Amino acid sequence: MSKVQKLSAVKGMNDILPASVPRTEKLPTSARWQWFEVAVRKVLARYGYQYMLTPIVEPTALFVRGLGEVTDIVEKEMYSFTDSMNGDKLTLRPEATAGIVRAVVEHNALYNGPLRVWTHGPMFRHERPQKGRYRQFHQLDVEALGFAGPDVDAEIILVARALWRELGLIEGQHVRLEINSLGQSAERREHRDALIRYFEQHQAQLDEEARRRLHSNPLRILDSKNPAMQALIEAAPKLMDFLGEASLAHFDAVRAALEAVGLEYHVNPRLVRGMDYYNLTVFEWVTDQLGSQGTVCGGGRYDGLIEQLGGKSAPAVGFGLGIERLLLLADELNLPMPSAAVDAYAIVPPGTPLPPVIAVLETLRTAGLSVVQHAGGAEGLGSMKSQFKKADASGARHALIFGEDELARGQVTVKALRDGSGAQVEHSLADAAQWAATLQSNA
Ligand code: ATP
Ligand code: MG
Repeated sequence: MSKVQKLSAVKGMNDILPASVPRTEKLPTSARWQWFEVAVRKVLARYGYQYMLTPIVEPTALFVRGLGEVTDIVEKEMYSFTDSMNGDKLTLRPEATAGIVRAVVEHNALYNGPLRVWTHGPMFRHERPQKGRYRQFHQLDVEALGFAGPDVDAEIILVARALWRELGLIEGQHVRLEINSLGQSAERREHRDALIRYFEQHQAQLDEEARRRLHSNPLRILDSKNPAMQALIEAAPKLMDFLGEASLAHFDAVRAALEAVGLEYHVNPRLVRGMDYYNLTVFEWVTDQLGSQGTVCGGGRYDGLIEQLGGKSAPAVGFGLGIERLLLLADELNLPMPSAAVDAYAIVPPGTPLPPVIAVLETLRTAGLSVVQHAGGAEGLGSMKSQFKKADASGARHALIFGEDELARGQVTVKALRDGSGAQVEHSLADAAQWAATLQSNA
């Protein structure tokens, strides 16, 4: 007999599992994911953002043109392949903004005015997997397209803050806001020339990657995580000193808006972000509780991207949030979430006729109750004792006991499992729709 070999998920790509499934790696449960999704829907509706979804696979050229050729993502992190059926060059999306902008341009979506949208889903980057860094990870992505004013930069940042509050994260303690301004391209060019001159004078202290980027993308050297280069980077010319009046005014207006709502921030002149498309405001929400994977959310303004991808020039601002990192943080902080347990667990002693039981459970569910029916495996339904064990383990607050005698009387026994009383009450099967409400956890 041949033994079939087990298959495993691709390295760095995780299954998201219910809490009841034990796993070796400490990863957030599917209940945590749902907790997050509920909060996201609530908060984004509050700000009037509309839901949208774009494909996971896009033409490779979209990311090369959109993100910039000399970026970590495009240089070494993209899952790109040729479609063997037609020769198309395709890429699993490494981020969401380029796809959103492609769709906005393709559908002329700004024709009737600006657009506030959000999306979420898997992103793919070929990185070294570690805690908080995966090859398939998920992002929440929030974008405001067609708005030029600093008020919308602030709005985008406040959407994230509202989400922290909804989830129970404390700003300033669990997550902190860092902001910077990248100015406009002419200002960046001047700064870039000054940077190149500065790094040229200190060539010997640059690592290989920095030397390679010295003339192609010196700004990215500032983003280097190499500890040996930190002092050099610290003393490099600051972009802020090259910003003109309009850029400074925009930045000041964003800051004023944040101050008006009492949101504390830190201006980090070294914050440059990984993509080429940003201008003016950039920001990150960071945490100290996840080791080196401390950036939970990052974004900024990208006024040139729509035109760069073939659309009519229009400004835009947005952010991407790493859902795994946020959920790891939530687990770390033990943030409370609603119980995933069902309201009731139906116990059916061996021999019970099932059709009347199923009919009552359907009535209870229609009335809004969540009910799990004990169902047997290959060995049948199992003893009352083993069924009660299952009921306990399910976390349900009530057991519904469908004994033969009760059924014959048109009744079911409801036993409290969680309040310590063990109280038992009989209810009429015919009135199930009425007493269902009394068993609901959040009633
Ligand atoms: P990092 O500097 O940590 O690599 P990044 O600048 O590449 O992050 P962005 O492109 O700004 O990340 O993506 C937005 C967010 O998505 C990040 O702040 C992070 O929370 C999350 N993220 C990015 N890459 C990964 C990954 N490989 N695994 C899990 N989350 C990720
Ligand atoms: Mg990265």
